[in-house]
Amino acid sequence: MADAVDAGLLGRMKVILLGPPGAGKGSQAQFLSESLRIPAISTGEMLRGAVAEGSDLGRKVGGIMARGHLVDDGTMADVVEERLRKEDAREGFLLDGYPRTLPQAETLAGILDRSRSALDAVLLVEVPEEELVRRALLRQRDDDKEEVVRARLQVYREQTTPLIGYYRERGLLRAIDGNRPIEEVTASLLGAFGVQV
Ligand code: ADP
Repeated sequence: MADAVDAGLLGRMKVILLGPPGAGKGSQAQFLSESLRIPAISTGEMLRGAVAEGSDLGRKVGGIMARGHLVDDGTMADVVEERLRKEDAREGFLLDGYPRTLPQAETLAGILDRSRSALDAVLLVEVPEEELVRRALLRQRDDDKEEVVRARLQVYREQTTPLIGYYRERGLLRAIDGNRPIEEVTASLLGAFGVQV
């Protein structure tokens, strides 16, 4: 499937998957990670893992996540910097759930600058808000109760949507309609890299 992408780019792309909670970023990240041969790094999954383990980080973030609020930028900078330093992410990665604020975007830019590296693309998965609420209520996660879902959507609107302009100005943004069947969304996302499906 990934044969059509320039073979030299496989495993070497640095990509952000951006979009509201419930846009389907998690499943798309898995497909993209396989096709582009880059590790999918989900900060939400990493934090849920920390909570499940009961680590210091997990104890710090559990309550914040359960309320649908954002973990502070300083804590997230440590989490992401440590993860991106691992060998498997040196050449390429797909970030899902980071950055979520302008300061986080600046932190990421700093990490990449220091390793003389740069982002290749920011893929925005767009889905209307009412569809997001509907989808979230069909899921069973602890932080998927309606008021928490609405809180997370508000946080997205206020803190994360400024990233759309930030990355558009830098020529990196590619918007994809996420309100379609999963396979069609995957095809559009891969299409952004010239991959035919
Ligand atoms: P969703 O994809 O449903 O928005 P995630 O799995 O990405 O949720 O994240 C779950 C929770 O983890 C968020 O609501 C937030 O509390 C925390 N979190 C994840 N990534 C970040 C981040 N980059 N900055 C701050 N908090 C984060």
